[in-house]
Amino acid sequence: MPSPSSTIAAIATPPGRGGVGVVRISGGNLAPFARQLTGRSSDPRPRVASLARFLDEDGSVLDEGLLLFFPGPNSYTGEDVLELQGHGGPVVMQMLLSRCLQLGARLAEPGEFTRRAFLNGKLDLAQAEGVIDLIDASTQAAARSAQRSLSGQFSRSVHDWRDRLVDLRMLVEATLDFPEEEIDFLEAANAFGKLARLDEELDRLLGRARQGSLLRNGLQVVLAGQPNVGKSSLLNCLTGEDRAIVTDHAGTTRDVLREAIQIEGIPLHIIDTAGLRETDNEVEQIGIGRSWKEIEQADVILRLVDARHGITVEDHAIDARLPAGVPVIWVFNKSDLTAEPASTETLPDGAAIHLSAKSGEGVELLRTALLRIAGWEGRSEDVILARERHLQALEQGLRHIRQAAISTTQLELMAEELRLAQDAVNSITGEFGADDLLGVIFSRFCIGK
Ligand code: GDP
Ligand code: ZN
Repeated sequence: MPSPSSTIAAIATPPGRGGVGVVRISGGNLAPFARQLTGRSSDPRPRVASLARFLDEDGSVLDEGLLLFFPGPNSYTGEDVLELQGHGGPVVMQMLLSRCLQLGARLAEPGEFTRRAFLNGKLDLAQAEGVIDLIDASTQAAARSAQRSLSGQFSRSVHDWRDRLVDLRMLVEATLDFPEEEIDFLEAANAFGKLARLDEELDRLLGRARQGSLLRNGLQVVLAGQPNVGKSSLLNCLTGEDRAIVTDHAGTTRDVLREAIQIEGIPLHIIDTAGLRETDNEVEQIGIGRSWKEIEQADVILRLVDARHGITVEDHAIDARLPAGVPVIWVFNKSDLTAEPASTETLPDGAAIHLSAKSGEGVELLRTALLRIAGWEGRSEDVILARERHLQALEQGLRHIRQAAISTTQLELMAEELRLAQDAVNSITGEFGADDLLGVIFSRFCIGK
């Protein structure tokens, strides 16, 4: 890893043409750098935009624009930061960058500015991840959630939880020194009640993080049913486009088709599959095999039947193979051909909805049911845009807490489990971070951030 005190530079704006382009520089002492670049004899004024000429080695003008100087430690990286706002053309940006390299900077690696911010204590790891998540956000809900992580909301929950854990650990470890009275002492301090509360709260935090993981990865929603029940029509209806071929010939959809949609900012992947039936056609059989693969990986199954026929003998054969524990929404499609109006019914592990993919009547009920099954309804504001890494750490923390709770007769063990829980949770904010972990996280950033 390069030494953090070296000066780094990068074009911070996206490639291509734009009104303004920004070259960003971070380093230990950038006032002389700015003087040389602008040919001025005085240091740039901190945090004030000034019009400047950016000069080449021979004194010729490369570009004219705004110069911003943020002396450390009150800057993004915690070091001196310079921002050159020039004209946003690829050639002029390259020329400015080359000049910076000539003045002693080196090209920044992806995420290196944010990495320095982390190393200088400006951001913790979860916040740094919030930066990239905000840049990468594909929906508004994801962007808002990333912003909350970035502002430290998630980190505060983690810290709060960690502090309670430390209190409890200290209590247990102190008791180890007085083996005579150990259990009485812990009971007097309500240690077991505190442990139960920790379990409860970590479980809640994990729930919010799982919601956020959904926001990042999207929910896999698989359409499953016999041929001709309207799976492809429903996909088209949900996406608002004619993506899937619809015919009245059974067996038209032979391969898996996936489309991304959003419902209230929640990304969903709708997956249309070949209709499930007994068939001698080899191509169709392959398609059906793929359908089952998708069904086995689904977060939600949209189980379509023709409302005119209801659930048939063939449907029973399909249902016997559905994976256990995956929520199912029963869709009685083609309600326009029946006397029954569009309706919805909540079931313990899903819902049953009468709708028409053709007229669109009742499809709103389906959207609401999907949101409810995603656990999203009315809770978007406290969701954490969690990464797999965060989920694993929280799950691991919870496992150790539960292990501690059943080790109350062996206090050494209990103390050790609490310590492991603390390590797990600390890894989220990076207070206990291996270097390779940092490498993985920051290498996913774009250059200039
Ligand atoms: P899939 O095989 O399950 O994908 O079914 P398709 O979407 O290809 O539809 C099969 C046939 O049913 C087509 O002729 C569609 O126009 C028709 N269909 C699909 N949904 C509806 C609906 O809600 N109402 C009516 N009346 N026809 C529908
Ligand atoms: Zn189809």
